Amino acid sequence: MSTNSGETRPVIVQKYGGSSVADAAKISAIARKISDRAETGASLVVVVSAMGDSTDRLIEMAREVSGGRSPEARELDTLLSTGELVASTLMAMAISSAGHPAVSLSGQQAGIRTDTTHGSARIADIDVARLRRELELGRICVVAGFQGLADNEDVTTLGRGGSDTTAVALAAALDAERCEIYTDVDGIYTADPRLVPSARKLAEIGYDEMLEMASLGAKMNPRSIELAAVYDVPILVASTFEDVPGTLIHGGPHMMEVRRAVTAVAVERDVAKITVRAVEDRPGIVSQIFVPLAEAGISVDVIVQNASLEGLTDVTFTVSKADFERTLDLTRQTCAEIAQDVVGNAGLAKVSIVGTGMQNGPGYAATMFDALSSSNVNIEMITTSEIRITCVIASSSVKKAANALHSAFELDAVDV
Ligand code: ASP
Ligand code: MG
Repeated sequence: MSTNSGETRPVIVQKYGGSSVADAAKISAIARKISDRAETGASLVVVVSAMGDSTDRLIEMAREVSGGRSPEARELDTLLSTGELVASTLMAMAISSAGHPAVSLSGQQAGIRTDTTHGSARIADIDVARLRRELELGRICVVAGFQGLADNEDVTTLGRGGSDTTAVALAAALDAERCEIYTDVDGIYTADPRLVPSARKLAEIGYDEMLEMASLGAKMNPRSIELAAVYDVPILVASTFEDVPGTLIHGGPHMMEVRRAVTAVAVERDVAKITVRAVEDRPGIVSQIFVPLAEAGISVDVIVQNASLEGLTDVTFTVSKADFERTLDLTRQTCAEIAQDVVGNAGLAKVSIVGTGMQNGPGYAATMFDALSSSNVNIEMITTSEIRITCVIASSSVKKAANALHSAFELDAVDV
């Protein structure tokens, strides 16, 4: 790509999360970095989240004025969109005062059109004409994340953490060189370093693995990873304030590091398990258990049905801890006539190994089970995908299990 004529300068999309823009001093510090970066010749589009926890505060106020009822979805979305407008306008002012021309744009002004699902709208289309015009004028565009405009001209939001999705979608629409996500962690690690002291930062990771990790709670919005994979947008995850190399998420050919069989150990806490004991084993029973849960908006994760014995079986499934009591009550109601009893345990967690290299090789599950048993960790349930093996264990064993797996799969840093 040539860099000497205005129109062909590479576009870079950057995103700064809420903790990075939490106060005026942080906004000014980032603005100076952005302005300096623009001087090196890149066309910059900067996506910002709302400052600090301001989205939570807006939600709180909406509840307070709604007298115990859920706030109206349309009004709530317009309200929440203002958090990102505050951050984007302040950032544009700060960049201008740091020396580079900048303009703030709402989601609507940036051409982001969505469906009408308030609270979790999907991006339908982006008209980048305005952005292109501003970039050609040499301005840095600061776009309010997490929002768009529906066909009925109402403002929508993309769901919590949606600014990542805005950034990746803009990068795809602008055919950007890459999307840079700046945050309070400095990259993606082989395990959570607070849990596993010998965890290492990965220089790169593939989309598929990152998607598994994000779904397991690594600090990225899974939707943004999915989008990046579809449009092949490389994402750099790096620290906002520290100048250290981050992690590149991509699908390119030079994936030495992710060719290792297991790339990372992921942990998800707050898992609860429900067991329906001695339920009749005949067509329709499982749907009788799960349809009411779906209707109540409860998402069920791992499901195991045992082999039937004399026409009776056990069905065990997991939900998030937050949904535990509700799920237990509901399942007891639906199973009152068809099962012996329903029991539950809310003190569980999931520990997973993730890696694309696992799909063609045997023995990974065996190594995992062996490492857990050597550390005296009891496995309650097991589930797998092509590139992931997950065990449900007691949450009190998480630290032990994560460290054992990290060593067993040779992920420990050599110099620790
Ligand atoms: N401000 C929104 C939220 O807190 C969107 C985001 O941060 O990406 O969920
Ligand atoms: Mg936020």
